[in-house]
Amino acid sequence: MSDKRFIDLAVEGVRDLAPYQAGKPISELQRELGIDDIIKLASNENPLGPSPKVIEVVKQLADDVGLYPDGNGFDLKRRLAEFHELPLQQITLGSGSDHILELIARVFLGEGRSAIISQYAFAIYAIVSKAAGATLRVANAFPEGHEKAYGHDLDAMFALIDETTRVVFIANPNNPTGTYASGQELKAFMDRVPKDVVVVLDEAYTEYVDAEDYTDGSELVKQYDNLILLRTFSKAYGLAGLRVGYALSNPVITDLLNRVRLAFNPNLLAQAAAVAALADREHMERTVALNREGMQQMQAAYEALGLKYIPSVCNFITVDVGDGKAVFDALLAQGVITRPLAPYGMPKHLRISIGTHEENQRLITALRKVLAR
Ligand code: PMP
Repeated sequence: MSDKRFIDLAVEGVRDLAPYQAGKPISELQRELGIDDIIKLASNENPLGPSPKVIEVVKQLADDVGLYPDGNGFDLKRRLAEFHELPLQQITLGSGSDHILELIARVFLGEGRSAIISQYAFAIYAIVSKAAGATLRVANAFPEGHEKAYGHDLDAMFALIDETTRVVFIANPNNPTGTYASGQELKAFMDRVPKDVVVVLDEAYTEYVDAEDYTDGSELVKQYDNLILLRTFSKAYGLAGLRVGYALSNPVITDLLNRVRLAFNPNLLAQAAAVAALADREHMERTVALNREGMQQMQAAYEALGLKYIPSVCNFITVDVGDGKAVFDALLAQGVITRPLAPYGMPKHLRISIGTHEENQRLITALRKVLAR
């Protein structure tokens, strides 16, 4: 059968999808360039890695990987329930929050239904919505010149809601822009949204935010039963390679999500690692402090280089380098992996994660060289 025929066999929503473009792995650049000294500032991972306590737990459990994990994730759910002061019945575990986004689409989206996102929103929302057969509506982000340029315009998103709308995705803060909506803006939005529209509040970077007017969503879940809050262990907790995320939502939505969740996610190592990571608050403090210093270092560097960047509350900065693709390639040749944003309709920008002090310095030196050409 010809390739075209197979494509025609796919369900409609999948036919026009482009796969998610992840950050380039270090091993791939090693193969391509034959160099060893590579740093990756492309996927917003924790430059400190996981807590040492996580590493201990993973080593201890190596002998047990012949066993299935607890399909219900009881221990991790119990710790999360304590952490958020919510009952177990309000927690859904997933292999990364990506996995839970997919569960949400399976449960609430499909033909004849619509989902709403913002321009420049995290790319997976569009993929899971379209794959489920739903119509995607994209609200313009705040324009250049606005104090929250590139950020989600919640009024514009609200204006797109109609009787077909089942899900609104809000990343707070958003990747790849690093922008956020204040607690007040969010509450005003939740107060207006029809109760039969599910709002997904994705807080993958919440641990890093120290803006005074930011409110994290754990309180909002208790107030609004149409809110699903998403968190991940991939960023500040440093467990990206293990794939663990979770959702908090009212018990009925939680039950629905768990009906389509395949058993045994997250895996055995991931569940135990997440328990250990959650308990190590010191590692979290070190992580956040290192990020704060790195942010200052990088903002000063971008200003010195005369580069415009989008103010960020996360662990990355999105910076206008003129020709994103050319600068991305030139940095690769120097062994520095960043993230080009053409797939987000931002061809002039690179998204660059905050690393250790030394990694940041190496990026600055490489960037200075590349831009001087
Ligand atoms: N949401 C946002 C906003 C993200 O940036 C990411 C990671 N890039 C995710 C969700 C998914 O993270 P994970 O699947 O690793 O939990």
